[in-house]
Amino acid sequence: MKVDYTELKKVAIDLLAERGVTLEDIAKITLEIQSQYYDDITLEYCLEHVNHVLSKREVINAVLTGINLDIMAEQGHIKEPLRSILMNDYSLYGIDEVLAYSIINVYGSIGLTNYGYVDKLKVGILKDINDKIKYHERCNTFLDDIVGAIAAAAAGRIAHSKN
Ligand code: MG
Repeated sequence: MKVDYTELKKVAIDLLAERGVTLEDIAKITLEIQSQYYDDITLEYCLEHVNHVLSKREVINAVLTGINLDIMAEQGHIKEPLRSILMNDYSLYGIDEVLAYSIINVYGSIGLTNYGYVDKLKVGILKDINDKIKYHERCNTFLDDIVGAIAAAAAGRIAHSKN
């Protein structure tokens, strides 16, 4: 089987949009991280880097896998007790973070520091994503980590390009 990652990138972007997240939302988180280090940084510049991050095979695979698991949990296609663990975003589950590391790892340790920062502060759209978890309207167990990781990876990419 031959997989066309240019096509899959589009699928990943559509899936994110379906879950209420645009690339601009992700770029806003990147901007928030990087504006503490550089004052001349723009949203367009961050968006460009988010786009590059989303071209990586590892990142596309993580987006497709994580969001599909969220949707499957919502639709009841995952067996108990895992379904309840995902629906309640059980804090000791941790596999959502492990999946996010496959995004972060592409850009090295700088991405990991940024990821910790966005995860702790729940910057930008991450707050909305997490509220949805709180109100049990949706399963966003994987989505929040994926979005945070892409934003952090883009910030790492910017840092590398500036040095
Ligand atoms: Mg999570």
